[in-house]
Amino acid sequence: MAIQAGEAAPESGGLYCARCDAMVHVTEGEPIPECPNGHHEFATEPHETGAPDLNPQHRPPPNG
Ligand SMILES: [Zn+2]
Repeated sequence: MAIQAGEAAPESGGLYCARCDAMVHVTEGEPIPECPNGHHEFATEPHETGAPDLNPQHRPPPNG
């Protein structure tokens, strides 16, 4: 499901472009602007990238 630019924002906050993941800030009830890269389709849910990778073992060694 997606929201198109020009539609009223369902809530205030950030929307993520469905094409390039750029975030735009919107205000509830205000028309949604196009993304900085000119796309018009936005995801209605936060972009899911899985759990945050907080495991330091996954980072490269500092002298690497
Ligand atoms: Zn975009």
